Amino acid sequence: MLESIGNAFKKSIDKITSAIFVDKSLIESVVKELQRALIIADVDINLVKELTDKIKELGKGNIKGIEKKEQLIKLLNDELQNIIGGEKKQLELGKKEKILFIGLYGTGKTTTISKIAAYYKKRGKKPVLLGLDVHRPAAPEQLEQLGKKLEVPVFVNKQEKNPIKIYNEFKEKLEKYDLILIDSAGRDALEKSLIEEISEISKTIKPTHTILVIAADIGQTAKKQVEEFKKACKIDGVIITRMDSSAKAGGALTACAQTGAPVYFIGTGEKPADLEEFNPKTFISRLLGMGDLETLLEKVKSATDEKQRKKLEKSLEEGNLNLKDVVEQMKSLEGVGGFSKLKELIPGFNKIKSEDEEKLENAQQKTKKWEHIIKSMTPYELENPEILEKQTSRISRIAKGSGTTTSDVRTLLKQYKMIKEVSSGAKDFGDITNPSQLSQKQLMKLAKKFGKKKMMRF
Ligand code: GDP
Ligand code: MG
Repeated sequence: MLESIGNAFKKSIDKITSAIFVDKSLIESVVKELQRALIIADVDINLVKELTDKIKELGKGNIKGIEKKEQLIKLLNDELQNIIGGEKKQLELGKKEKILFIGLYGTGKTTTISKIAAYYKKRGKKPVLLGLDVHRPAAPEQLEQLGKKLEVPVFVNKQEKNPIKIYNEFKEKLEKYDLILIDSAGRDALEKSLIEEISEISKTIKPTHTILVIAADIGQTAKKQVEEFKKACKIDGVIITRMDSSAKAGGALTACAQTGAPVYFIGTGEKPADLEEFNPKTFISRLLGMGDLETLLEKVKSATDEKQRKKLEKSLEEGNLNLKDVVEQMKSLEGVGGFSKLKELIPGFNKIKSEDEEKLENAQQKTKKWEHIIKSMTPYELENPEILEKQTSRISRIAKGSGTTTSDVRTLLKQYKMIKEVSSGAKDFGDITNPSQLSQKQLMKLAKKFGKKKMMRF
């Protein structure tokens, strides 16, 4: 459905969460990814530009670390919600409702009516279907069949070609039901005869709601269609069908939001159960697979250990990075591995078992091991890990004490050595007259090396 948009936003959020610094290249890659996905989904180019401009603007500002990350993620979440419909607008049903469904030919009106009947029947309503599509010869039969399956009564007259007459014929019988769903005829385009027909039906029947049915595969053209129908007759809101089968679904959704017409439901298949009430907020949570915004921000916080980052920066500046610092930093980087945790929050997302996830799980297990190793070391060993290389008996003792192997201990030592090398090498470059600048650069270089080694190792 909207996988490409969902994945692009998900990737961006992951990138932001796991980055040590929010810098220009991070913003650029996020912007590029989003632009691509939104354009493929046929989202209006102006909307795409607006969104990515906001990200760039926020990226420029001078807020540091975690606050910037939080702001960026909040912006992404809010903007995505905005472009697909803002706050939820529910179809409010009173005690007795007459809903007229209109739309062009083949958009899914008849199918949607049966879905709506099934949906509200389950919720205690007494629906009835009235067939006023007098143009398509097979229309009454289709409605009858759908009604029969759902055990919902259907009123049609296969001979009569005047919809008003059909309505009058069944008017009294319809009174027995509290949810009258009225099917109407479509046309290939919004032509005058269709508007006249709908207007006349509207005047006579006085529906409590009029809902326009459109198909997702028209993409952003939905905007024009909704606007034209709005001009021609009064509509309350929209149902978008075929959300399951069109890559342009994102375009259709965002286009409807642009017109201000609420999307009440979306159709996600041909069966009666393939209907979802549309709520931008929960829709996005599901799309991103990350629960709500609060949960997401919580994850950013736990993944970004500011204190730890500052400490590391200081140790690097002073040139006395120790093993504990290294492991703590690894831990905070990999805390992002929350992917598997995030997944648990969302039903249906367990299916995703990616290579990345396995990598992360491995990495997490590894850092856990390292933690145990460190706990088995004496303060002297922690301050001077170099001595371990020469004293294998110490390595064996640590391995035993931590429930790991000597090769685990050696791996940790190697990692430490590498970071130490990078950090001392980093002293040679950068502006020495500006220590804060220097330490940032050091860290960046460190992070880069770190990342590369990590990829190789896990
Ligand atoms: P109408 O002319 O507007 O009444 O359209 P129909 O209800 O007859 O539907 C036209 C076609 O679209 C049918 O083959 C439906 O099964 C199909 N359809 C309707 N809604 C959906 C949907 O949400 N997903 C998919 N995949 N197909 C749908
Ligand atoms: Mg129909």
